[in-house]
Amino acid sequence: MTKKGKTLTGAFGRPVANDLNSETAGAKGPVLMQDVHLLEKLSHFDRERIPERVVHAKGAGAYGYFEVTADVTPYTRAAFLSKVGKRTEVFARFSTVGGEKGSADAERDPRGFAVKFYTEQGNYDMVGNNTPVFFIRDPLKFPDFIHTQKRNPGTNLKDPDMFWDFLSLTPESIHQVTILFSDRGTPATYRHMNGYSSHTYRWYNAKGETFWVQYHFKTDQGIRNLTGPEAHAMCGADPDHATRDLHAAIARGEFPSWTLEMQILTPAQARDLRWDIFDITKVWPHGEVPPMTVGKLVLDRNPVNYFAEVEQAAFNPSNFVPGIGPSPDKMLQGRLFSYHDTHLHRLGGNYHLIPVNAPKAAPEASYQRDGAMRTDNGGGAGPNYWPNSFGAPAPDPAMAEPPLPIEGPAARHAYELTDDDFVQAGTLYATVMTEADRASLVANIVGHLGGAQKRLQLRQAALFLKANEDYGTRVAKGLGLDLAQVRKLAAMTQDKRVAATAS
Ligand code: NDP
Repeated sequence: MTKKGKTLTGAFGRPVANDLNSETAGAKGPVLMQDVHLLEKLSHFDRERIPERVVHAKGAGAYGYFEVTADVTPYTRAAFLSKVGKRTEVFARFSTVGGEKGSADAERDPRGFAVKFYTEQGNYDMVGNNTPVFFIRDPLKFPDFIHTQKRNPGTNLKDPDMFWDFLSLTPESIHQVTILFSDRGTPATYRHMNGYSSHTYRWYNAKGETFWVQYHFKTDQGIRNLTGPEAHAMCGADPDHATRDLHAAIARGEFPSWTLEMQILTPAQARDLRWDIFDITKVWPHGEVPPMTVGKLVLDRNPVNYFAEVEQAAFNPSNFVPGIGPSPDKMLQGRLFSYHDTHLHRLGGNYHLIPVNAPKAAPEASYQRDGAMRTDNGGGAGPNYWPNSFGAPAPDPAMAEPPLPIEGPAARHAYELTDDDFVQAGTLYATVMTEADRASLVANIVGHLGGAQKRLQLRQAALFLKANEDYGTRVAKGLGLDLAQVRKLAAMTQDKRVAATAS
């Protein structure tokens, strides 16, 4: 921060005598080219903005710590999880997904829930959402999906036809759509929502044994949501309400916290589970895979500069530490590439040097060199290659991830759509939601889907009916659709349904 009482300077330390009047030829101008202070000030201002994140553009962040509360060494060798009571510094960022940087915090959207752990073995990033599942399960569909959530290329308006056309052609989205249109799609604040890894990850212990795991950060503040009308009103009244709430709560010493629960399966248990553990549209039912409480996440420090610490924060699901690795989940595999790639575009090749992203507890010792904005001595005069015989950093074979057997032909394998794809959405509707939750869900869907073409309403209502008879019936009635026609569509295969509602 600029010190009080110091003389104002330009970017290169030159003292500034006057910061109110441009240098002109005569009192009425024109402005002189030799006013280098003015030129420097304007040209830096012109470059103040960096590319907006293509998703998760609007967000808020804070620092804190993670504390281990249970022995997980039988499952992972990660050093930061090695001892009960051990604390690791973290930076967390919460966000909406589809809206631009100036959009409202109360929009219906999943919320990003990203945590960077500054561990002694390098940074570990858990880049999740406030929902345990996702809309699609193949990364090839991701750019198309996001286009439909953003603005119509012609009108630059949000477009219910694009939105529901894609989702009704993507029936595996039904589970996430049901969560999104419940009041969990509009959390009251970032403090009052859970965070989920959504993906399955691999933990491996010191013996090299593999466990498949899912992370659940359960809010200690309790779940609180806005109803559809409350969220709508909040968008106008205070578009920054969740950003404000997080900052204000921490500033007054009310530190939000989350309890980390893990679902953990051995490979043999995973084989016996009804659900494909690498299909991100499914959860692992708690009854079959009881979660284990392993730690506490606490946020207790606000950033001092939003741009430096929150806008430039770069989370990356491929930031693993020994003891934690990827699973074959196809969506995760796509993200392993895409996050690093987008940060290279948005922040540049040396974004790992930005203090919020730097591995504070395990300084970099790589042979990566140079590039724009390399702000340290870049490895100095030491070797910039491996192997070398000058005692410079060497790989440590003890850090290797145990091999994972993979087999099968290389091909573009499709997920076959089965009735199983509707079961968990139906369970959520029928057995988890209260009647008040269901009434909100149906009203929220009717309000949004009602803006789409009739044929898209029919096609999507048929999917709700396939999830649960009452669910589909209430949506159809709310939209004034012919229930017999919706039933007929629901009984068809997806291909026939699409053909029957083609235009
Ligand atoms: P449980 O009764 O053990 O768990 C139900 C879960 O649903 C709880 O974690 C609860 O979160 C969460 N929940 C409550 N209301 C909503 C909502 N409107 N939207 C999303 N989640 C909600 O049941 P099962 O584990 O057998 O799962 C049943 C269904 O619950 C699943 O099909 C899935 O739709 C949903 N669910 C399951 C999760 C899992 O990992 N098993 C995680 C989240 C949802 P909380 O305790 O925080 O209120």
